[in-house]
Amino acid sequence: MKEIWIYAEARGGRVNEVAHELLTRALDLKEKLDNSIVSAVLIGHDIPDEDKQELIQRGADKLYYVDDPKLKDFLVEPYSKVLIQLVKEYTPEIIIAPATTQGRTLMPYTAVRLRTGLTADCTGLDIDEEGNLLQTRPAIGGNIMATIKTATRPQMSTVRPHSTRPAPIMDGQRQGEIINIKIQLTQEDLPTARLDFIKDETQGGTIQDADVIVSGGRGVGKADNFKIVYKLAELLGGAVGGSRDVVDRGWIGYPHQVGLSGKTVNPKLYIALGISGAIQHLAGMQTSDTIIAVNKDPDAQIFRVSDLGIVADVTELVPALIEKLEVA
Ligand code: FAD
Repeated sequence: MKEIWIYAEARGGRVNEVAHELLTRALDLKEKLDNSIVSAVLIGHDIPDEDKQELIQRGADKLYYVDDPKLKDFLVEPYSKVLIQLVKEYTPEIIIAPATTQGRTLMPYTAVRLRTGLTADCTGLDIDEEGNLLQTRPAIGGNIMATIKTATRPQMSTVRPHSTRPAPIMDGQRQGEIINIKIQLTQEDLPTARLDFIKDETQGGTIQDADVIVSGGRGVGKADNFKIVYKLAELLGGAVGGSRDVVDRGWIGYPHQVGLSGKTVNPKLYIALGISGAIQHLAGMQTSDTIIAVNKDPDAQIFRVSDLGIVADVTELVPALIEKLEVA
């Protein structure tokens, strides 16, 4: 039986929803790879049973759970030691992890020690006729999509968060196998320690968790004009995003950048203000449920992916909209 593993990232003692997105990917691969099952690997401490059960109910056939107080917070050295031991014992065919800070740290560190290949930041995964994993990701400055095969095993990939929907809870009660594993960790496995966790709250909520995102581009005009983007976001209960151009100009911080070299987002509503719709920007937001764009150029690319396009000057339209919303 070939095992397709997902790395079920835990944060703050709970399974992160990105794990459910990875299940969607893994279930799709399972359909294409003969004789395969989906297993989740969960590392942490005191993770609630409901979170483990949820992984099973959303499609995992098996769950490897490694619990230890030393694993309460993510640290690359002990987590990698655990993952390497699991890989050596259970020899998975494929391992998919999220391209989050955790996944981006753990996977390369582990792949190099396992002497296997890793394709980072994939946007598409498939199986070829011989049963190899096909990993698609942007290459050459985002101008082409490259499909990569790994000759070694396990085949490892990280996948962009929010690039697919979470796997739904399946019908009926699924019976998955939960395997509890203890791995001996010595002081040598813990060369670093986490002292504190400080959340960046300098510039509003995080865009990846927001239902509504109001994003500004160069068309906003200048840094000071960004206050209308913030105000509109606040009135709509949303978070603020930006194109790379405005991040490069310092009008907003990098954590707010949407796109290929920023974050992939999937909100219910994405409002693009003065954003042209370059392919690298679209790569980060085009799966949003509803897209509204405001641009003074009627031929702007962004209108091609928009549900509602408004040809207008953002510096005139947005203040008028804010005024209406404040009265309402
Ligand atoms: P512009 O392309 O300059 O567009 C400004 C728009 O505003 C125009 O359409 C204009 O008509 C409109 N406008 C001007 N004035 C007004 C006004 N008063 N009212 C209304 N509309 C107005 N970009 C990203 O966004 N995210 C990424 O992650 C990203 N990664 C990249 C990675 C690589 C490898 C490369 C090569 C590029 C990347 N880019 C990324 C850059 C991308 O190619 C574009 O340069 C960038 O998205 C353009 O930002 P913009 O739309 O704000 O600016």
